[in-house]
Amino acid sequence: MRRRWNNSLAFKFFFSYFVVTLLLFAGFYLYSAPLLRRFYVSHLSLRMEQEGRVLARVLPPRPDPGSLDAEARRLGRELRARVTVIAPDGRVLGDSDEPSQTMENHAFRPEVIEALRSGAGAATRYSTTVRYQMLYQAVRDGSGAQARIIRIAMPLSDVESVIASVRRTLLLGLLAVSGLGLLLALGFSRLLGRRIKRLVDFSLELARGSFPQNFFSRGRNDEIDVLEQHLSEMSASIRDHFEQLVAEKEKIASILRCMVEGVLVLDRNGNILLINEPAARMLHAETGRDLAGTSVLELSRRPELLAIVRGALGFDFERGLYSRELELKDGCWVRVNATGLLNGRGAVLGSILVFHDITELKRLEAVRSDFVANVSHELRTPLTAIRGYVETLLRSPPADPEVARTFLGIVDRHSERLSRLTEELLILADLESGKMRIARRPIDVAQLIQRALEVFADRASKKNVGLEHRLEPDLPPVLGDLDRLEQVLINLIDNAIKYTDAGGEIVVSAARARGEDRIEIAVADTGCGIPEQDLPRITERFYRVDKARSRELGGTGLGLAIVKHIVQALDGRLRIESAVRKGTTVRVDLPAATQRNRGNVLFLCTGNSCRSQMAEGFARRCAADGTRIYSAGTRPKGIHPLTVRVMNEAGVDISGQSSKSLEAVPVSEIDLVVTLCGESDEECPVPAGTAPRMHWPLPDPVAVQGDEETVLAAFRKVRDEIRARVEELFGCVPSR
Ligand code: ADP
Repeated sequence: MRRRWNNSLAFKFFFSYFVVTLLLFAGFYLYSAPLLRRFYVSHLSLRMEQEGRVLARVLPPRPDPGSLDAEARRLGRELRARVTVIAPDGRVLGDSDEPSQTMENHAFRPEVIEALRSGAGAATRYSTTVRYQMLYQAVRDGSGAQARIIRIAMPLSDVESVIASVRRTLLLGLLAVSGLGLLLALGFSRLLGRRIKRLVDFSLELARGSFPQNFFSRGRNDEIDVLEQHLSEMSASIRDHFEQLVAEKEKIASILRCMVEGVLVLDRNGNILLINEPAARMLHAETGRDLAGTSVLELSRRPELLAIVRGALGFDFERGLYSRELELKDGCWVRVNATGLLNGRGAVLGSILVFHDITELKRLEAVRSDFVANVSHELRTPLTAIRGYVETLLRSPPADPEVARTFLGIVDRHSERLSRLTEELLILADLESGKMRIARRPIDVAQLIQRALEVFADRASKKNVGLEHRLEPDLPPVLGDLDRLEQVLINLIDNAIKYTDAGGEIVVSAARARGEDRIEIAVADTGCGIPEQDLPRITERFYRVDKARSRELGGTGLGLAIVKHIVQALDGRLRIESAVRKGTTVRVDLPAATQRNRGNVLFLCTGNSCRSQMAEGFARRCAADGTRIYSAGTRPKGIHPLTVRVMNEAGVDISGQSSKSLEAVPVSEIDLVVTLCGESDEECPVPAGTAPRMHWPLPDPVAVQGDEETVLAAFRKVRDEIRARVEELFGCVPSR
């Protein structure tokens, strides 16, 4: 904001000084002339009086008119004044300027009258004789009839020119002093203006919310300096308080923002004081709308929520916590816990409602109770049968041993079912909790399918169901766990046989998934099929299309649930296609153990891990995503600087790697161990575990003796050898 120049404080200050100077000039101009004149005339008349007395003594006593003209003329010339000698009766005895006989009687001249009365008299008047203002000074010489008046007259024009000259000089001096004063006043008012402007700028900064520090420079310690100092201190203190408040507010805001729980704070009338993002989301508030200050009715009109809000606002929190469950529009569930919003004196201002999302808890609760009901049901059926037959056998054993055998056969079948059920439940529990270790090793698909088919060959031929396999030639191994994959195939083929009638056909096939490093294993049957509406739920625990039929066929309802968990753990995908009365095809696709995908690889060498570090660096560049590469040495001492240097030359940054000992490597998770040791007297370390091993005979470059260039050349040679081998191992494009 620019203020008008003539409205500024500096201008006002300067202007007032200017006006004072002007008034001074006017005063001087008006008063100086009469003052000077009065002073000068009184001074002059005093001198003329003295001169008159001297003349009285010098002039001879001659009583006749005109007798003293010659003396008067001489003395008048000397005194440069008009000298007149007057008899007490007014006759002029002598005059320096005119023949006295022609002059009129002076008895009534005021100065003469006064001089005759008191000895001296003065008057100022216009002289008709010389035609200008004159100062007359008369003194009486003698007394009585001998008395005479000596009068000296001077033109006042001389006085005026003296006064004018004095006034001019004084005026010039005054002008110079005032000019200097005005300049000083201008400088001072500008300085003052600048300092006041700094104060204004400071206040503006403060008003804008920035708290200027070191805004004022240290000065002369005058009142403005003290004011500036106090303002600076005030600004610093306000800034500290402000920052504290902002930090406090930010802290609360970020706590509220990052909270998983929704928070809604209401005043006593149900108006929203605060609502955090999760609460707004849960209650489906309009996104981006500031709800503070609005009524809770604008947030939601759900009667259940409003009842909870009413309940919370009217609740006596001394009785404990107000807690209710609420089902939201989208089927989610929240638990609303409310406490009172109290002020410092403990008066209730409103209520704080915290919304906990308990949807997952509700779902788990439902799953758990479903599971318990299902398990109890599944257990009850065989147990009831077993108890029934055992009681019959105990209380009234059948006379016919054949009947008894039949009964025992039934008991045996049900107990087998019971043990299968508990076994599968345990497997499922281990899979779900992650307790079951699942290896990821290259597995030959043909061998896997062959082993599974062997289990069912007999059963299939007895049921008169065709069981065959179709394998694409030259299939790469899949990456997985042999036992678990066998379990997957057994469950799927078991289902296929169970739900396919005699004369049907089952084909187990394996082929590469198009365009991907994956292999698809499919079990297709020509059985009863699964209705479309059941397909989405078919992998749920205990879910069966036809419970009675499944049970009759010895099914537990857990087979596909186990399959789904194993396939997921192996990064696989499960798809089930089915058409009623036509058949079902279950497809499992798994990552192929290609060269890039060799599972977790450990490079191991003797000494500090230079060679294995280099191998790790190149392997990280080549290996498929998700595979873990480890390196270790027998005496790790940190990465050798020359290793870093030669790897940098090859465009690989290994500064993020570390030099590990074998103990730091999870050996049980390793799928391939590569040892990089020289053929000489070095003894290659042998890690525990069953992972396949590979040996790359390579000398330790650290052991090479010689100057730096020689050692560096050895490092480069080993590096190039390692790079070639790693690229070959992972089948990646040579980088040179
Ligand atoms: P079960 O032990 O009952 O076979 P699963 O989990 O293996 O349990 O299968 C669940 C349900 O899926 C079975 O009860 C059955 O209804 C249906 N099902 C599974 N595989 C097939 C298939 N090949 N043909 C027809 N229905 C099948």
